[in-house]
Amino acid sequence: MSEECGSGACGCASGSSNATAGSGRRSGFCPKCNSQVHPVSVDVLENILKPEAVEAYKGEKPSLCLNPSCDVTYFDAESNEVFTNEDCETGIWFKEKAENSYVCYCQKVTEREIIETVVETGLDDLGSVMLYLREDIGEGCKEKQPAGVSCNRYVQDAIEKAQIIREALFDYKELQPDSKEIPYQLIEERYNNYLVAQGGSMATAGGGGGCCGGGCGCG
Ligand SMILES: [Zn+2]
Repeated sequence: MSEECGSGACGCASGSSNATAGSGRRSGFCPKCNSQVHPVSVDVLENILKPEAVEAYKGEKPSLCLNPSCDVTYFDAESNEVFTNEDCETGIWFKEKAENSYVCYCQKVTEREIIETVVETGLDDLGSVMLYLREDIGEGCKEKQPAGVSCNRYVQDAIEKAQIIREALFDYKELQPDSKEIPYQLIEERYNNYLVAQGGSMATAGGGGGCCGGGCGCG
């Protein structure tokens, strides 16, 4: 099943010019700002909205407004329900007024954590950074990420940003290269533990298997 926003603006990589992708019955635009939207599953709302908002929601075909400055987060054109930033327990990363947002929603990892890890340890690949922070690679993007897309690209973006910061700190002599050992052994141990916990079924995932490890089906 493929649910795409048609614009690629949400990061779903559909990049299609067909703005009517997804259910033809769904409104393709936000009822407040008229921006493009991205269809999501009801599961996503259950993970992002506050419990009282989840309980109140009667619809079945929610969409996410992709405009960063619009207060509307999710809405349902069929049931006529609208939710805003204030209705969200977990913030939506691209919304200007979002609070409590993450880069990886599967493991609740913030951008700051990723930057600190890369700057302090020198780890530079997604799998290692996730294992360092959470002793897990994570899964469940489809239900936990606000747009229902893989967190991987956002984690990767944060790692690249952190590498630039790390290099800048070296340049300013705040950090001495090789002053701290890159904790490869720790990561290897954690990855082995992770494989054991997964019953060895992820043996081919490798260190760069991604935060979801492919388990969410995001590819
Ligand atoms: Zn909007």
